[in-house]
Amino acid sequence: MALGRVALVGAGPGDPELLTVKAQRLLKEAEVVVFDRLVSPEILNLIPAGTTRIYAGKALSRHHLAQDEINSLLVSLARTGRLVVRLKGGDPFVFGRGSEEAEYLARHGVPFEVVPGITSASGGSTYAGIPLTHRGHATGVRYVTGHCKENEDLAHDWRSLADPDTTLVVYMGLTNLDQITRQLMAAGMPADTPAAAVENATTPRQRRVIGTVGSLPTLVADAGLAPPTIVIIGKVVSLAGVLDWYQAGPGSVEDQSASG
Ligand code: SAH
Repeated sequence: MALGRVALVGAGPGDPELLTVKAQRLLKEAEVVVFDRLVSPEILNLIPAGTTRIYAGKALSRHHLAQDEINSLLVSLARTGRLVVRLKGGDPFVFGRGSEEAEYLARHGVPFEVVPGITSASGGSTYAGIPLTHRGHATGVRYVTGHCKENEDLAHDWRSLADPDTTLVVYMGLTNLDQITRQLMAAGMPADTPAAAVENATTPRQRRVIGTVGSLPTLVADAGLAPPTIVIIGKVVSLAGVLDWYQAGPGSVEDQSASG
């Protein structure tokens, strides 16, 4: 039987119009779509009615086991000769384990291609009115994970992350937000450095919370933000008031002292 193939496709952060033309074409051509918890309902609606859909959402606590299952599922689906689209939130190669899936496919001789997507750092900051770089505010950007094993501390070089001239974007940062902001301040980041959290970015459910490194954990807890939420820290967040072009949803919190 002819060997099928797998397309690892980035779905972007949620707004279906942020899909690439290539992603949209592959969604139409796919015979099976294996999708993540992070893929928005608006994007799932674009999958043709006759296409087989498999939900590969995973509870955080059984991440590893589930990942193995997803890897072998992709291989066995491709071996039935079908075009399999593995649809992942944001960009498959940014904290998405897409590269692990690609590695597994490569090792098992399954043809694959990868379609980049708009990562949530980019989509989330833009829809929150925050540029990732801005002359005079930030000369660079860093993407870091805020997730670590249970009962372990995050092993980041906090001193380098506390650089006031670099924008810091934290993925999966909600659970450890308290620890992250405390470590940054301990490493020298001023408590009044502007900081934001954007929940369900680029969707009609988007909420943004604007504050400072010192105030963000409390503001986020009070607003009850839940995953998926992206955290953006740095002077660029001070532009969020002026550049708020996408209407922030009800329940957003704007600490006026932090955004200009
Ligand atoms: N591959 C994805 C990231 C997966 S890690 C990407 O490129 O965006 C999961 C984390 O991504 C979440 O915990 C959250 O921090 C962020 N994220 C993904 N989608 C998001 C969204 N629509 N709004 C806010 N954050 C999002």
